[in-house]
Amino acid sequence: MKIEETKPTSESFDDKLKRLAVEEAELRVKALKEEAEARVEEREVRKHQLKDLKSNIADRDLKDKQAQLDREQQGKTFRAQDATDNFNWKTCTHKKGGMAHARDVRVLTTGGNSNQYSVFKHQMLNGDIWVRCSRCSRTWAPPVEKNFYFRDGIVVARQDGVFDTAKFEAAKLEYLRAVNFETNNSTSSSVQCRLSKYDPASKRMVDAADVYRENIASTNLR
Ligand SMILES: [Zn+2]
Repeated sequence: MKIEETKPTSESFDDKLKRLAVEEAELRVKALKEEAEARVEEREVRKHQLKDLKSNIADRDLKDKQAQLDREQQGKTFRAQDATDNFNWKTCTHKKGGMAHARDVRVLTTGGNSNQYSVFKHQMLNGDIWVRCSRCSRTWAPPVEKNFYFRDGIVVARQDGVFDTAKFEAAKLEYLRAVNFETNNSTSSSVQCRLSKYDPASKRMVDAADVYRENIASTNLR
């Protein structure tokens, strides 16, 4: 508080006290007013922050929803493709023969009735034999364990699912059956190599056929 020294000295001590009391009261009112104003401002700021927050949440919800829809759509597309493939693979005899007519070329995708299989066998560079039906494009490859972990009937990552031994053994049998399909088509082959990788634990090169298999497990000979 600024005390005015220039006030006439005629002011009595009582008057001075009164004046100071009034000034003090005025200051207190001013302070209260400022406090109230600050509170209003604060409330405004908070209102805006809340609005921002709400719109951010709405934005994020919308993005989450969009991402989920995208995933579902993608899943649907994959499942539809899988269903089409599975249907074609099941109906196909994988055999040669049969007659394609101008009005009915189904035999080209459903297979004929010859005793010869309409398959091509290809020896991969690690020595594995892959078999591909030229009619329905189904490809048989040695089953890879990492593709047999399931949760709720869906293939999931190793750490998220349970290994289905029955399905894996069935796939192995199915693969062996395909490898033995009788065909007069000759087997093609890649350049053969032995695949190895460096193993830091033993400080040696070790066999890496499994790594190769896992890496190409999701491809086919289409
Ligand atoms: Zn086939």
